[in-house]
Amino acid sequence: MVSLVENVREGETMNFIATALIALFSAAAAAQADRFDKVEIKTTQLTPNIYLLEGEGGNIGVSAGDDGVFVIDDQFAPLTARILAAIKKISDKPVRLLINTHWHFDHTGGNENFGNAGTVIVAQDNVYKRLTVKTPIEFFKAQYGPSPRAALPVLTFKDNVTFHLNGDEATALHAPNAHTDGDAIIHFRNANVVHMGDTYFNGLYPFIDTGTNGSVKGVIAAVDRVLAITDDTSKIIPGHGPLSNKAELKAYRGMLVKVHANVTALVKAKKTLAQVVAAKPTREFDAQWGNGFLKPDQFAEIVYTSVAKSH
Ligand SMILES: [Zn+2]
Repeated sequence: MVSLVENVREGETMNFIATALIALFSAAAAAQADRFDKVEIKTTQLTPNIYLLEGEGGNIGVSAGDDGVFVIDDQFAPLTARILAAIKKISDKPVRLLINTHWHFDHTGGNENFGNAGTVIVAQDNVYKRLTVKTPIEFFKAQYGPSPRAALPVLTFKDNVTFHLNGDEATALHAPNAHTDGDAIIHFRNANVVHMGDTYFNGLYPFIDTGTNGSVKGVIAAVDRVLAITDDTSKIIPGHGPLSNKAELKAYRGMLVKVHANVTALVKAKKTLAQVVAAKPTREFDAQWGNGFLKPDQFAEIVYTSVAKSH
């Protein structure tokens, strides 16, 4: 972006365009700052030791107790001070550990701030790989990274890792090829709480990042794993959407399975992307799931891309 502006500035007659471009970017930056200015962090206590923090971006999980503070995901960098202030109201102890449920910017945006403050960042191996290089989210035609060193996980794992903290055993389980290729689901055994990251969008069609090897089948497999370790009293934190439970997670599974089956039948009949979207394979679920940030046609396209990749 800088080089474009510099080049344009070389021509006298182009000065106006350069000025206009700078004004445009400044306006965009101001709008971005404004957007975060209004965000408040809402804290909900789920169990004696576990809290849900909601602001802008992915839901944050916090375990606080005698051993210190353990945080799951960190939203956006401009919110770090507010997130830390919310945590301070829960505990005076330092944030020892931060786990990223996956590499996306709305879950890892605060990493650099936490890393610089001495928090140990933990993630699945592929999160480290994605954050160290320039990585696109193809569906949104956006590029991210590479992240600065302080933002990178210092401890990574392949299949799972268990934390013995605050009287609980919390296991981060890798859910392969689900929302991305580096998803972790965090299961607090004693508290009976699960943070699913973006393998679960509660009440809205999920984004599935097929460009970094996410897949609908992987998301369904992730859901099945969580259904197997939870009961009717479990508290389930989705990546986006309100706090949830097993019954709602089952409904989410039902939606995914049906839409996946509808789209698979169309792909097998050699329908094109445009034909699949036009066939409205999500129709019966749109009233309940189609009012989030992904519109029904966008979700149909994502499912098509996932199915087409596996055929
Ligand atoms: Zn995500």
